[in-house]
Amino acid sequence: MSFKTIIEPFRIHSVAPIRMTTPEQRAGFIADAGYNVFSLRSDDVLIDLLTDSGTGAMSRNQWAAIQHGDESYAGSPSWEIFRDAVQNLFPFKHVIPTHQGRAAEKILFTALGGKGKFIPNNTHFDTTRANVEYSGAEAVDFVIAEGKDAANLHPFKGNMDVQALEDFIQKVGVANIPVVMMTITNNSGGGQPVSLANLHAVSDLCKKYGLPLFLDACRFAENAWFIREREAGQGDRDVIDIVREIASLADGMTMSAKKDPLGNIGGWLALNDDELAGVCRNLLILTEGFPTYGGLAGRDLEALAVGLTEIVSHDYLKYRIQSTAYLGNALLAGGIPVVQPIGGHAVYIDAKALLPHIPALQYPGQALAVELYKVGGIRGCEIGTVMFGKKPDGTEVPATMELVRLAIPRRTYTQSHIDYVIEVCLAVKANSEKLTGYRITKEPPALRHFTAIFEPIT
Ligand SMILES: *Cc1c(COP(=O)(O)O)cnc(C)c1O
Repeated sequence: MSFKTIIEPFRIHSVAPIRMTTPEQRAGFIADAGYNVFSLRSDDVLIDLLTDSGTGAMSRNQWAAIQHGDESYAGSPSWEIFRDAVQNLFPFKHVIPTHQGRAAEKILFTALGGKGKFIPNNTHFDTTRANVEYSGAEAVDFVIAEGKDAANLHPFKGNMDVQALEDFIQKVGVANIPVVMMTITNNSGGGQPVSLANLHAVSDLCKKYGLPLFLDACRFAENAWFIREREAGQGDRDVIDIVREIASLADGMTMSAKKDPLGNIGGWLALNDDELAGVCRNLLILTEGFPTYGGLAGRDLEALAVGLTEIVSHDYLKYRIQSTAYLGNALLAGGIPVVQPIGGHAVYIDAKALLPHIPALQYPGQALAVELYKVGGIRGCEIGTVMFGKKPDGTEVPATMELVRLAIPRRTYTQSHIDYVIEVCLAVKANSEKLTGYRITKEPPALRHFTAIFEPIT
C-alpha cells in the first residue's frame, strides 16, 4: 500500500521556540526595518523563508561530528575528513575550503576575472554576479528562453542555451572568456534544474573551444534528484552516481556548504588545474585562512563531511522535493501564480502576475514580501527589480521577472507550518488589489536589496 502523505523522514530532536506576534506588532517592526525584510530581527518572524542558506537543522550525527572537530591550525584530521567527503562526490584534484560560497567566488574571479573578460553562466546568482563585476569582468546569462517564462512547464528550465553560448564565444573570442559557469540548480531562475544532457552539451562545447567549465553546485543533490525523476534513462540510478557524472563534466566548482551540504556555514572551491589552484590558495591565505581550514573551524569541516553523506539519501531528497512541491501546488490550486514546475528549494510567487497594478519600478515583489510579513509573520525575499534592477552604470531597468521567493530551510519546518504559510498567502491574495508599491529612499552602490530603505507609495 502506498499513502499520499509524505512524512518528514526525521523526528524532532531539539527545538527552537517561535515567538508569537500580532499583525499590529508586525506593522511596527517592518516600518522600523525600513520596509526591508532583511532588516527585521528574526525573533520577530514566525516562519522564516528568507533563505535556505545555512538555516537548516543539523542531524544528531552532525552534532556528534562537531565534538570530533580538531582545531589544529595546520594539517587537522578534520580537514582530511572534509576533503575526502568532498572528493567522494566531486573528485577534483584540489579542494580549497572557504567560509562560504561567495568567498570561493571572490577568490576564483580575483584569479580569473578583470576588465575586458566575460563570464557566461546559465544565470548568475546575485553574489556571483557581484563578484564577477567587482573584478571588472562582465557577467552574462544564457539560460534557455523557457527559463524566463514563469508558467512554462519545461522540465529543465535551468538549461543553458548552448547555441547562444557558442555564438557568444565566437563573438567575444576564447581569449576573453576565462571560465564558463553552470549553476545547479538555477537559484535566481526559480530553483530550476539543469539536465544531464545539457551539462554534457555545455561540457562538449567548452572542450571544443578549450574553455574550463566550473559548476556553481550549491544544490547539486536536488539537481541530481530532478535528473533522476525527469530525465529519460536516469530513473534507476543512485544520486551519488549522477553527481559524480556531473562532476566528471567540469574542471572545477564553487560551493556554498550552507545549501545542500546541510551546514550552517561553509563553502569550498575545487578544481583540477595545479597552477590556478596555487594562485587561489595564495589568495585564500590572504583573506580566509590556511588551506587546511579556509575560513572554517575544524568542527564545521566535520559537520559538513557528515552532511555530504546525508544529502544524497533518496528518502531525504524525495521528501525535500515533494514537500516543496506541496507548498507550490497548494498556492497554484488557490489561484496564486508561481513559477512552474516547482523548484527544489523554494517556491517563487510571480508578483508581476499577482499584483499587475503595481509597476515594476514600484517593486511589486517588495510589496508582496512586506504584506506576507505583516499579515502572517512570514519572511520571504524579493527576487526582481530590487535585486537586479540597478545596473553598474547607475540606471534602473525592470528585471525579467518579479518574484517573491519562499525558500524552505532544510529539515526545519513541518507540514503544519507550511499549511499555515498557504493560508496566509491565500489571505494576502484575497486583498491583493489594495496593495501599493514602494520607493527606495536610500541604497548602497551594490547588492542593494540587503540594506536599501523603502517607503510605501500612498
Ligand atoms: C548561496 C549561493 C551562492 C553564495 O553562497 P554564500 O554561501 O551565500 O556566500 C552562490 N551561488 C548560488 C547559486 C547560491 O545559491
